[in-house]
Formats: sequence, C-alpha cells, structure tokens
Amino acid sequence: MNLSLEGKTYVIMGVANKRSIAWGISQSLSKAGAKLIFTYAGERMEKNVRQLADSLDQEETIVLPCDITDDAEIEKTFQDIKDKVGHIDGLAHCIAFANKEELDGDYLNTTRDGFMLAHSISSYSLTAVAKVIRDLDLMKEGGSIVTMTYLGGERIVKNYNVMGVAKASLDASVQYLANDLGKESIRVNAISAGPIRTLSAKGIGGFNDVLQEMEEKAPLNRLVTQEEVGDTALFLMSDLARGITGETIHVDAGYNKVGL
Ligand code: NAD
Repeated sequence: MNLSLEGKTYVIMGVANKRSIAWGISQSLSKAGAKLIFTYAGERMEKNVRQLADSLDQEETIVLPCDITDDAEIEKTFQDIKDKVGHIDGLAHCIAFANKEELDGDYLNTTRDGFMLAHSISSYSLTAVAKVIRDLDLMKEGGSIVTMTYLGGERIVKNYNVMGVAKASLDASVQYLANDLGKESIRVNAISAGPIRTLSAKGIGGFNDVLQEMEEKAPLNRLVTQEEVGDTALFLMSDLARGITGETIHVDAGYNKVGL
C-alpha cells in the first residue's frame, strides 16, 4: 500500500483560484499521479480554472461547467464525465456559499431565502452529486468522496452563522451517505480545515480575528495551509484510508481540541 494514485481518476469541484482549498487538493493528487477532472460554476470561473488545470502535469485537461444549484447541469456534467473516462475513483467537493450580509452579526437575522441558499449550495449539493455518481455507476470499482467542513458546524464561531448550520447539515450528510454508499465500497469523509485566507473566507465578518486566534491558541501555534489539507485529502483518496468512512478529520493545527 502506498500513496500513489497512478492510473486513478478524480473529480475536483470548487477551484476558484490558486488560493482555493480545492487547488491544494489538486496539487497533492496530481503529484501522486492522479488524473484530474475539474468542474467550475459559471463562465466567469472557466478561464481561471483552465489556466490552473493546464499548469499541472496532466496528459489531458478536462474542465466542465457544473453549477451545483442546477440538477440538470449536475446530471449532464457527470454523464459527460462518464462518456469521457468511463469511471472515477474519487471526488473532492469543495463548494460553499452564503450571502455575505448573513456572515456578520446575529444568526437570528438569517432570512429564509438565505438559509435555503446556504444549505442548497453548501450541504445538499454533496448529496445531489453522490446520488448522480451512484445512479450512473461512476464509482463501479468503489471510491472515495471527500468534502470540506469547518469547526463552525460543531461549535459557535462568531459571524459564521448560517454557514455553521449548513456545515452541521453537511457533517450529518457525510455519515448518512457513508452508510448508503458503503455497500458499494464508496467511502465518504470530511476534512475540517482550520481557517485559510481564500475568496470565500474573505466574506466572513472578522475573519482576520479568527486567523489571529488560531495562531495564538492552536497547539501547533500556526495556521494550516492548502497543501496540508491537500495531503490529507490525498490520504483519504488513497487505499491507506480504506477502513475510514463517515469520518471528519480536523486539519487545524489542533485548534479544535483547545478548551479555555
Ligand atoms: P473558494 O472560494 O476558493 O472555493 C469555494 C468554491 O465554491 C468556489 O470555487 C466557488 O466557485 C464554488 N461555488 C460556489 N457556489 C457554487 C455553485 N452554485 N456551484 C458550484 N460551485 C460553487 O474557498 P475555499 O475556502 O477554498 O472553500 C472550499 C471549501 O472549503 C468550502 O466548502 C469551505 O466552506 C471550506 N472550508 C474553508 C475554510 C477556509 O477557512 N477557507 C475552512 C474550512 C472549510
């Protein structure tokens, strides 16, 4: 058993730019020899994602649109993937969104529409994608699905608000999906990353304070990087993690263990 992903194919959802956690995962998987397929949301993202994908040492670059709020587009994208590569061995789901004004102040002010939007994009999307993968028998040799979560789904994190509630829903989905898909040897796990400065994170009120607190209080006294999250995803995608499913692994320099 080793960490080589030679001959294996993975779908990466959620690269926006080079700071994206999905990009950290892409680099780790690509270095291990994996073939990667990228999806992006909206035409604005396409150029960036293509440029980044082209910079990897891949034989072929496959980049496809997939707005996760559109069930027909999800089905089309994964049918296209099946037509192009036949089957996949894993998927990294690195997608979240909430209205900026609801990531500041009191959670109580969350609107019904904002609540639904955050849950649809940040939580339900994992279930929607997992179902399409199962229905198309895309992981017919088994596989590994990895999603990204955050401590704000387990504990109160100032200003994280509706996104924290959506992450709690995502965390529960990981367990139920692990149970549904286990009989097909498909594992489903989450990585709970410490705060990392990305496009999405910029939208959270007081994010700099969260970074500072983590650096001061985490047992390792530092922040974590996209590369560290990427290497944990590599482990979860590999056979070394073959006994792990329904699990959340914290990659946060130990911050989640700290009490008062
Ligand atoms: P990012 O902004 O780089 O990535 C978020 C991605 O979500 C983008 O690529 C965006 O295009 C995509 N997205 C949004 N709406 C979409 C839609 N309708 N359809 C398809 N894609 C859509 O930010 P990131 O921090 O790398 O976020 C990736 C994941 O990591 C998210 O789930 C986030 O909650 C999680 N996470 C981030 C941190 C952090 O501190 N940055 C910590 C823990 C977990």
